[in-house]
Amino acid sequence: MHLFADCGIAEIVDPETEKALGIGEEGEIVVTPLWNEAVPLIRYKTGDVGRLLPYQPCPCGRTHPKMSMVKGRVAHIAKVDGKRVLPIDVEEIIAGIPGLGEEYQIILDQPGELDRLKLKAEYQPEIKDVAALKNQLGEALYRDLGVESEVELVPLRSLARALFKAQRLIHS
Ligand SMILES: [Zn+2]
Repeated sequence: MHLFADCGIAEIVDPETEKALGIGEEGEIVVTPLWNEAVPLIRYKTGDVGRLLPYQPCPCGRTHPKMSMVKGRVAHIAKVDGKRVLPIDVEEIIAGIPGLGEEYQIILDQPGELDRLKLKAEYQPEIKDVAALKNQLGEALYRDLGVESEVELVPLRSLARALFKAQRLIHS
């Protein structure tokens, strides 16, 4: 996604400390539109999570800098053992493991930072060795996100269908 550098300034900041982050680092997108006349905004915190991409010539011919797609909302970050986890991170891991369903829930059972990721996911009816599948998911979460987890696998269609990403964060 190109940013039109003559129309505004985009920065990425740490959502907690509000300190500027470098190119490629993931954080909250902060924008300063340069052409707004009626409603000037200076360093507006969008609440969206993304990152700026390293500059390189683009096949489309534009020379403007580029940004990643928006990965999620700052409000949906689960902080686990010093790492920030978004629902999409978990979703991608689940989608990469055959035998799991699409639905999942991230259980937030205490305020603030968690020491491990508590997760409920579904397994397909043909799965015989549910324990092995559960281990596989736990290992993938550790490998890709660097967090310890506590996974519970339940039969397909046991979890309520989520209409929005936010509904996959369950405060218990
Ligand atoms: Zn381009």
